[in-house]
Amino acid sequence: MRRGLKGGGAAVGRIIAIANQKGGVGKTTTAVNLAVALAQSGQRVLLVDLDPQGNATSGLTPEPVKSGTIYDSLVGRTPLAQIIRESRPSLYLAPSGADLVGAEIELATVEGRERRLKAEIQGEVCKYNYVLIDTPPSLGLLTLNALVAADAVLVPMQCEYYALEGLSSLLATIRRVNAVLNPQLELMGVVLTMFDPRNRLSHEISLEVNKHFPERVFQSVIPRNVRISESPSHGLAVIEYDPKSVGAEAYRLLALELLERADSPQATARPTGEDASGEVTNGGRPRRGIWNLRSIFARSAERARRSG
Ligand code: ADP
Ligand code: MG
Repeated sequence: MRRGLKGGGAAVGRIIAIANQKGGVGKTTTAVNLAVALAQSGQRVLLVDLDPQGNATSGLTPEPVKSGTIYDSLVGRTPLAQIIRESRPSLYLAPSGADLVGAEIELATVEGRERRLKAEIQGEVCKYNYVLIDTPPSLGLLTLNALVAADAVLVPMQCEYYALEGLSSLLATIRRVNAVLNPQLELMGVVLTMFDPRNRLSHEISLEVNKHFPERVFQSVIPRNVRISESPSHGLAVIEYDPKSVGAEAYRLLALELLERADSPQATARPTGEDASGEVTNGGRPRRGIWNLRSIFARSAERARRSG
């Protein structure tokens, strides 16, 4: 193990795929901000950008990456170690580039094509506490590579009407990968993103999602926040762009919750009355603008009582 890697309670080499075959649900935003938050809390983190759109790469690096991308290592041209670059203290990036578009087709006839990323990551994983993989909006070969390489899947889910639609195919894919290709793979949890407290639908979706996955929903909820959408154009995570924004705070709390779960993997099942982040409360209420399931459910119950 490399020196400087946090041992003692902290995870070593935990690989988390961030997946949802829908686009625009907050996968990349979650990958980038979790990676930065974990790195800032002293974890050594590798972020693998497996989306040909390269939004995680451009969200962290203002200059485009021209050569040495994840494509080169998937097709066996360059070992993964050689394309990884230091992006921030304690945060490393395996960048994507436009060439990745062709990878699905090029790999189509390669034997063991779904294990290419796993094969590349194997020698690197012990150098990091966490490896986060940002995936494209499809259940194609690239996402399959992520699921085969990963220990756990984190599913960002946008609080909108069709949130749960398509989820069954994602869960079926996870089950199939788990049965056939990667027995370690587990659903780590669902993260609610773009929560808008003024929108009744956001509240309904959070209740609905919690009903489906009572033990797998992260207590930390990511609010819709304009600072989050501004930050990528500056090549920064919102945590760096506006550390005091509610978006930054929400992602820091999500990172804390993730670390807590890693410390005690059984802790995924958390009674909803408890504040997972172990903070934020102000007489049982979260600080202004910060949302978690507990407060959302309290408000929904209050609303039902009033209209009841
Ligand atoms: P995906 O990777 O699933 O396609 P992104 O993370 O790229 O989704 O998010 C889609 C768009 O929504 C981006 O423009 C992003 O900046 C914006 N966005 C994501 N999360 C939030 C949020 N919590 N508040 C406001 N805008 C957000
Ligand atoms: Mg994306």
